[in-house]
Amino acid sequence: MAQSYDVIIIGSGPGGYIAAIRAAQLGMKVAVVEREHLAGICSNWGCIPTKALVHDAQTTANFSEAMRRKTAVVELLREKNHLNLASIAQVEVIDGHAEFIDPHTLKITTEQGSRQLSADRIFINTGAEAVIPQIDGLIPGPRIVDSTGILNLSSLPKRLAILGGGYIGVEFASLFASFGSEVTLFETSSQFLAREDADISAAIKTILQDQGVKIELNTRVQSVTSDNNSVTLHTGHGDRQADVLLVATGRRPATQTLKLENADVATDTRGAILVDKHLKTSVDHIWALGDVTGGPQFTYISLDDFRIVHDQLLGKGTRTTDDRVNIPYSVFMTPTLSRIGLTEAQAREQGRNFQVVSLPVAAIPRARVINDTRGVLKALVDNDSKKILGVALLAADSHEVINIVKTVMDAGLPYTVLRDQIFTHPTMSESLNDLFGLVKQA
Ligand SMILES: Cc1cc2nc3c(=O)[nH]c(=O)nc-3n(C[C@H](O)[C@H](O)[C@H](O)COP(=O)(O)OP(=O)(O)OC[C@H]3O[C@@H](n4cnc5c(N)ncnc54)[C@H](O)[C@@H]3O)c2cc1C
Repeated sequence: MAQSYDVIIIGSGPGGYIAAIRAAQLGMKVAVVEREHLAGICSNWGCIPTKALVHDAQTTANFSEAMRRKTAVVELLREKNHLNLASIAQVEVIDGHAEFIDPHTLKITTEQGSRQLSADRIFINTGAEAVIPQIDGLIPGPRIVDSTGILNLSSLPKRLAILGGGYIGVEFASLFASFGSEVTLFETSSQFLAREDADISAAIKTILQDQGVKIELNTRVQSVTSDNNSVTLHTGHGDRQADVLLVATGRRPATQTLKLENADVATDTRGAILVDKHLKTSVDHIWALGDVTGGPQFTYISLDDFRIVHDQLLGKGTRTTDDRVNIPYSVFMTPTLSRIGLTEAQAREQGRNFQVVSLPVAAIPRARVINDTRGVLKALVDNDSKKILGVALLAADSHEVINIVKTVMDAGLPYTVLRDQIFTHPTMSESLNDLFGLVKQA
């Protein structure tokens, strides 16, 4: 006999976690099924631990100390997250793995055995998991790790190889180079961070190379061998040795073990759950939030997904994914790359009438103060509407500054607002005065 709830949340990513609290506050009986740790990848294996390490790499630069502090921060949050939910009478947290039996019923496998739950409404928030490509010998183990495994290393690898020149690969390359590892990044295509403009990825490449990172583009790893001492990558350009290999070749929606077919929940060919703009799946009472929908993989998108579902169930039902016009993101290399809106290549493809302005970070007083003059700021401005089309900030603290740009873009304001705004001094934000001061007026 299945135990019944008003809402079952499968997986407790940021969106699902907050949905559980909100639903319980509204008097609903809620079950949260989590097979690992509450609050998902972000708190445990993603944003929080990695950014704690990025911070400490610039301060203590001592790997063991930084790893200890990272673990302490994660454990503190784990305890807090657990207490938060456990203190709410209407929420039951179940440590186990969920799979569908039928559209309303789930089988939960726990250490104690299995049980069945059913609910009127089900939210799927199972996130994404690392893709390990089909390469001979590429089998995760002590020397071959994904972004989760690398956070458990007991010592700093002298030589770190990274497979994949995407955002996660670049972040870890910069991080481990800061700690003193000899890092080599392998990328099959001719450009890494392929979605960025070529001038921005070239500037990033220079920064990484100055940090000692070797970048091997156009390099396909054909097979891998490893033993107790090292791992060898066999490439078209010869063999490369490392102590640890990080596989950073993307993340795919975590739906493989959910048995979605038993609930008629439709997915695309990559396993992403198909949702409409209200995040409703192909089944009327089942919603999906976060990375599992195949959308942008960020904590703030998972949180915004919660707002959409919440608005639909309890608000006016008008909030949709279409409202998210400008989604900013930051790659926490050092210095940080932050982006929003169109790239120059996209703006050209769309035939926009625009101009490009750029400012070297070395021209910003704050950059002198903090002694980090690396990077460049770049903006695209529409000549007709005077609105900002896109911005790339490769600069210290750009992860803060980009949110100012987002606010102006979302408000539909012209670039002149940033050009003429009073900002405190000496800050990175005030560089927006100078960057947009370079726009030529028609
Ligand atoms: C290394 C790394 C760094 C990142 N850095 C950032 C960053 O700086 N900023 C940012 O915004 N984003 C970052 N992200 C992305 C961010 O972590 C995710 O986008 C975010 O966690 C949202 O995920 P989610 O809500 O989809 O669920 P997730 O956080 O992925 O959580 C899903 C949960 O579901 C559980 N689960 C899965 N299947 C089942 C099942 N069948 N039964 C029970 N439980 C299940 C999992 O154990 C997991 O806890 C990073 C990711 C990684 C890997």
